[in-house]
Amino acid sequence: MTAPLLVLLCILTIVVLAYFYKSPAGKKSIPDSYRKILQAHVSYYRALEPKQKDRFEKKIMELLGYIHIDGVGTEVEDLDRVLVAASGVIPIFGFPEWKYYNLGYVLLYPHAFDEETFLSAQAMRNTLGMVGTGALQRVMILSRPSLRRGFENYLGKENTGIHEFVHLLDKEDGAVDGIPEALLQRQYVLPWLALIKKHMDSILEGQSDISLYGTRNQAEFFAVASEYFFSRPDQFRQNHPDLYDLMTRIFNQEPPVPPYQETAPPPSQP
Ligand SMILES: [Zn+2]
Repeated sequence: MTAPLLVLLCILTIVVLAYFYKSPAGKKSIPDSYRKILQAHVSYYRALEPKQKDRFEKKIMELLGYIHIDGVGTEVEDLDRVLVAASGVIPIFGFPEWKYYNLGYVLLYPHAFDEETFLSAQAMRNTLGMVGTGALQRVMILSRPSLRRGFENYLGKENTGIHEFVHLLDKEDGAVDGIPEALLQRQYVLPWLALIKKHMDSILEGQSDISLYGTRNQAEFFAVASEYFFSRPDQFRQNHPDLYDLMTRIFNQEPPVPPYQETAPPPSQP
């Protein structure tokens, strides 16, 4: 055997060994307990095909690999970790390579907090979630009960976790203004702004089932419309087909429609 061939063989052996050595750790397969939580609490995940579920699980582990989740006066449980990650993965599931480079920490509060001081005192329970600015760049703050509630109500169209992650997507281009330039192709910006205006007007006229909070400004409209789009895609499509169409372009996906009938709690007795 010649010397160059020997060197080549050595290199090949090292590459093969490195691959097998790295793969179990590098893969970071999802713990069974996390998968059970996804199945029990995340209707978006439940409605995915098996292959897509695999991809969803990988994205969950990837996201949990680069953000830190801490509790402020509260213990963070696996359920919270999985729900935070699901809130982040759902809006970017149409972009396989997407990473939240503008997020490092998620802080969970035991209840709502004051937006200015972050005090979670009884009297100041008014904010359910926010994306930090200034010294709190790369920080997201969420009320834990509100995070959980977003995934509990199968028929609801509110989801604080998704709301805040959508603000992060919006912020990717530098401005939280309701125009996600990183996702929205140029030719759709003006139609998008016109749609926002039209739908804000109908909310104010009492003609829409989109949350009134969406009339605060364009960024809030984008966030609350996205909560609804991902939580109840069937109802959103039926009630707001023009918005639904453009939002499938923004997010590069049509959210899966879960079998609500099977999962919804029975109607309460009068
Ligand atoms: Zn908001």
